[in-house]
Amino acid sequence: MKALVVDKPEAGQTARAAFRDFAESELPEGDVLLRVTHSTVNYKDGLAVTGKAPVVRRFPMVPGIDLIGVVEESANPAVKAGDRVVLNGWGVGETHCGAYAPRARVKADWLVPLPAGLASEEAAAIGTAGYTAMLCVMALERHGLTPERGPVLVTGAAGGVGSVAVALLSSLGWYVAASTGRPEEQAYLEGLGAKEIVPRDRYGNGPARPLGKEVWAAAVDSVGSKTLAGVLAEVKYGGAVAACGLAQGMDLPASVAPFILRGVALLGVDSVMAPRALRLEAWSRLAAQLDRAKLRAMTTTATLDDVPRLAEAILAGRLRGRVVVEIG
Ligand code: NDP
Repeated sequence: MKALVVDKPEAGQTARAAFRDFAESELPEGDVLLRVTHSTVNYKDGLAVTGKAPVVRRFPMVPGIDLIGVVEESANPAVKAGDRVVLNGWGVGETHCGAYAPRARVKADWLVPLPAGLASEEAAAIGTAGYTAMLCVMALERHGLTPERGPVLVTGAAGGVGSVAVALLSSLGWYVAASTGRPEEQAYLEGLGAKEIVPRDRYGNGPARPLGKEVWAAAVDSVGSKTLAGVLAEVKYGGAVAACGLAQGMDLPASVAPFILRGVALLGVDSVMAPRALRLEAWSRLAAQLDRAKLRAMTTTATLDDVPRLAEAILAGRLRGRVVVEIG
């Protein structure tokens, strides 16, 4: 089968993905064989395909952290041939072959049944980015935050996590401010429900002050670094930031002032190893609460051949919203 594969590089070379014939016998062990119908391009896929960061830790590796497919064979009674399933994370596309091939062999425990009423294309459009956006919303809610507390800020708003977070939070009744470095995406973000556009420069430059004016009741941050530090300094007393990403950087040049003087909480969000109960809740809520017209507005469609180009584009911050990759 034709697959996008990262083979072990020669010493001194970068591990990059290339198309080649990949035998089913090269797939890793697992109790379920899937026909992959769709995948997506997430930031981490960009890193794996281009080799710009060492996310691939086993060779040969088929990248692709989002896998939507149909079960072909199963040795696990919990999963049956013909079931439509979603798989996000668990090291798939990093340490276990992922979605950029027509077949995948995986563990039944990793699979989430496609929620009723959600098409495979829609699940792919949501993907890890959208499922992570929902995990961020759930983290803010667990902290007791509601739209009555004030505005919510979404950083990296025109990206995948950001676009879904804007759409979800606005449908849930929040006043959403969208922070973006792409002013030309104002109409797009307003279409998703943003009420205010905040230029990326407000936070991304220079060191953050320990404390600023109290502006945001809550925030979803997929950017990290100076942006997260700047946002923390503007969160209202008792508010929280759900932090899931590092598009600007992995550092956090902040002070403890927001935590110790305003009781602000920094809520870490991980999608890769998230427990099954959280995944089931997130996917069921996405099926019920994500506005399909907004999902369509943020989605473009591509083929497997487009993935290397899209991988470069996402790392350059040039992809808008979500891309569905049709596999087979
Ligand atoms: P995207 O590239 O689609 O979105 C990231 C957005 O961040 C960009 O669209 C851009 O938004 C903004 N951005 C990019 N570069 C910079 C920069 N240098 N400074 C400030 N802002 C920047 O990626 P995803 O939405 O797929 O992922 C976003 C982040 O979340 C990534 O770091 C990813 O690794 C992480 N992630 C983490 C998960 C987890 O489990 N914790 C799961 C999924 C993603 P704009 O143009 O609007 O400014």
